[in-house]
Amino acid sequence: MAGEIVRALGAISGGLDGMLACRVLMDQGIRVEAITFNSPFFDAEAGKQAAVVLGIPWREVDFTVDIVNLLFDPPSGFGKNMNPCIDCHAAMFGKLKDIAVAEGFDFIFTGEVVGQRPMSQNRGSLNRVRNISSTNDILLRPLSAKILDPTPMEQEGLVDREKLLDLNGRGRSRQLEMAKDYGFSSVPSPGGGCLLTDPGYANRLRVLRDIGLLNGENARMIRTGRMFVLDGAVGLVGRSSDENDRMLEAGTGIQLDIQGIPGPLGVLIGKNTAENLTLLTAIMASYTKATGPVTAVVISGGNQTFTTERISSEDRSRYMVTL
Ligand code: SF4
Repeated sequence: MAGEIVRALGAISGGLDGMLACRVLMDQGIRVEAITFNSPFFDAEAGKQAAVVLGIPWREVDFTVDIVNLLFDPPSGFGKNMNPCIDCHAAMFGKLKDIAVAEGFDFIFTGEVVGQRPMSQNRGSLNRVRNISSTNDILLRPLSAKILDPTPMEQEGLVDREKLLDLNGRGRSRQLEMAKDYGFSSVPSPGGGCLLTDPGYANRLRVLRDIGLLNGENARMIRTGRMFVLDGAVGLVGRSSDENDRMLEAGTGIQLDIQGIPGPLGVLIGKNTAENLTLLTAIMASYTKATGPVTAVVISGGNQTFTTERISSEDRSRYMVTL
């Protein structure tokens, strides 16, 4: 192997640990590239910025289908909310491995630290993820490598185990010290945000799944507006002009607009019936100052109109998905 350039492909979210994992490998002359996954539940922006700071080649990879499929019945179960972390990590690492093998990388790596997170990064979970994703022969965790069994990459001399780390536990002081030494001026919080861990959003997603409407596009759509459960459908009602614009722009579902008076935009996703659209109109009307019947028109094609009285706030609350 002497003289050959070793290439490693890492998965980073934009958090500090992933950045440090990259730097630890770069310090021993390994050519590092990184990817960040995106989906309706997390984006790749922080990963992109981290790669700029690190000065390494980077790309984002769409993970929507993989993660949405896991939301129906994840083999390892959910965390506290709708987050199937073990299987999500395993699917990410499997995908990372596929890309690495196809493109001739020597190994893959992540910024995981043993014991960093009680559920998803304890020693048992790390082993489980590695086994499920069949990455035993190719996955390195540089930040905790010295307290894990040696990998084939270390045994074959591709990576100098002595220059890897032995981080263990939830403490962040060594990472922060290293960030300072490397000159990372702003220090991202570990992990970044994943909507699947948000209780309110998880509630919405469960409703979508249970009605049979869960897919990537709808999962993205229910991030906006108030949400109501209708018959085989959900209704979304904008809470501000900004939300109305976003819902309009997304172009998903049947869009309803109130005529003649200011009011929110409504979107119906699912069973397209006059009953559902009339009920959605009544709900939308309840957020206007109307004192009499209100008319809404379908603006996403068809020009159908629906006229009805506003629903009482008490009745409305029966349909609303609360956070
Ligand atoms: S927090 Fe979200 S992105 Fe991270 S492993 Fe869990 S489900 Fe996947």
